[in-house]
Amino acid sequence: MCGIVAYLGKKTARPILLEGLKRLEYRGYDSAGIAIVTDGKLYLERRVGRVGNLEEAIDGRKEFDGSLGLCHTRWATHGGVTDFNAHPHRDDRHGIVVVHNGIIENYSALKQYLQEKGHTFASQTDTEVLAMLIGELYEGDIEKAVQAALREVTGAYAIAVICEKEPNVLVAARKGSPLMVGIGSDNEYIVASDGAAIIAHTARVIMLDDYNVVKITRDGFHTTDIHNTPLSPKVQQLEIDLEQIELGAFPHFMLKEIFEQPSSVRACIGGRMNIREGKVVLGGLSSFAKELTKASQVILTAQGTALHAAMIGRYMLEDLAKIPSHTEYASEFRYRNPVIEENTVVVAVSQSGETADTLAALYEAKERGALAIGVVNVVGSSIARETDAGVYLRVGPEIGVASTKAFIGQVGALALISFYMARKRYMSADQCIDMMKEMEAIPAKIEKILESAPRIKKITEKYIERENWLFLGRGYNYPTALEGALKLKEISYIHAEGMPAAEMKHGPIALINEGMPAVFIANRGRQYEKVMSNIQEVRSRGGHVIAVATEGDTEIAKHVQDVMYIPDVCEPLSPMLAVVPLQLMAYYAAVARGHDVDKPRNLAKSVTVE
Ligand code: GLU
Repeated sequence: MCGIVAYLGKKTARPILLEGLKRLEYRGYDSAGIAIVTDGKLYLERRVGRVGNLEEAIDGRKEFDGSLGLCHTRWATHGGVTDFNAHPHRDDRHGIVVVHNGIIENYSALKQYLQEKGHTFASQTDTEVLAMLIGELYEGDIEKAVQAALREVTGAYAIAVICEKEPNVLVAARKGSPLMVGIGSDNEYIVASDGAAIIAHTARVIMLDDYNVVKITRDGFHTTDIHNTPLSPKVQQLEIDLEQIELGAFPHFMLKEIFEQPSSVRACIGGRMNIREGKVVLGGLSSFAKELTKASQVILTAQGTALHAAMIGRYMLEDLAKIPSHTEYASEFRYRNPVIEENTVVVAVSQSGETADTLAALYEAKERGALAIGVVNVVGSSIARETDAGVYLRVGPEIGVASTKAFIGQVGALALISFYMARKRYMSADQCIDMMKEMEAIPAKIEKILESAPRIKKITEKYIERENWLFLGRGYNYPTALEGALKLKEISYIHAEGMPAAEMKHGPIALINEGMPAVFIANRGRQYEKVMSNIQEVRSRGGHVIAVATEGDTEIAKHVQDVMYIPDVCEPLSPMLAVVPLQLMAYYAAVARGHDVDKPRNLAKSVTVE
């Protein structure tokens, strides 16, 4: 949520900032702004809309040619989407500008205090309050003023700050929202929310920790905490390559990422399954093997798509490892009074590893003595660092706001964790070998589904005028139904509900009218017959059924309007296949309705506010 890029070096900052900002646009895109110091003077421009609008606004303007600057792409939390509310925000005394990701929770009290001190505000944002506070505390040293201000604020922030009076200094800090510093050669530095904005220039980074403040000058940098205690963060290598964050021949990142899924699964399972011996090799869990064997219950916590993956993980843990398991919205888990018995394992699932709700739930679980496991994609992210152990998805950067390959990776990683825990408890080597062989076959099976993309497009286009859809499934594919509905909502703005197929007759069946699309996941499995009955119930009421069915099931075609086939697969792993046609449907529906698939309205990737 929200992207920050800041630069200090010998080059012209503008192209580096704007190019980086475009790469972060998936994080927020309602407005954008830039501030640059050129010949000791500060210049600032902000625009509602995409980074492209901002780029046009400063195009050819020489005053934006300096070598120190910062910029921001916003996902509004406080204050409407206007030029005035766009970042950077400026204090009213010293030419201090701030870009911010997060929420200053005590902004209201601080604003009142600052107004009493005579400051006047031009925006409704919480961020402007922070800029004014830094200004109020400024006594000629911007680093000190930032530290002092951060001692007064509560909430979450990643910030970059510059001051016209100190034209060779860039200060950045974080608490709760991600921020890293790229270290180029020859005293060049790029501060950004995500490595995607840095990797074109350098792979050497330091990841800021909570309450870290970094001061960068033309001679080097140093890091402290907010009380000015010196710190020595370690320099790490970014593991992204440029190709992964570029569109290539695809029109949208979402489609690219859907088509990457076979290789995403290969990467996720690569080297982690010793099929010959029936052993799962998860280096990230090995130091906690004993605790995992003793686990009395597993609580999987997440939000959005990751929660749907977690629900599938729960079914696998119960079904395969026979461990009592539960799933819960992290936001709810955090604020009720959860009972964490001894030997409880909490699994936090998040693509970015920065999801604020999930992070908060994780802190709560740790506080109550649970063993914390992370299932995240972004290496070195907050959840990865705060958990005791974990399994990375290894699916590479996901840029499309609607998550696809990360979902497959999450289910894949949770399956591996389930096999791992099952082997330590009730699963024989032979059973494990069978499951691993099934997993090994998944990538080729996804490839097969992707070949039918043109057919799925045609089917989808028949229904795009319909404003209400149902997605229904049972067992392992109940969460898949939820995910199918979420994908359609997110990018095509069609109202869709996912639910257990049996639940329909307890109320939602009243919605079914002539021609209403109902997508059923009706692959072969224990509940096939039951799903078929539910299909008949919808048909009898005029609904149009689109079924996801197992290849070779020609019978189903006689009972439904349309069929999308997936290869035969064992039940626990069937969501990894069944979700693919649903992702493609959502994609083609959104494109046909003329929406910006990679930047759906009101959404942003990596939800770093609670
Ligand atoms: N709370 C700030 C605002 O509404 C920052 C939001 C963001 O992270 O983009 O402007």
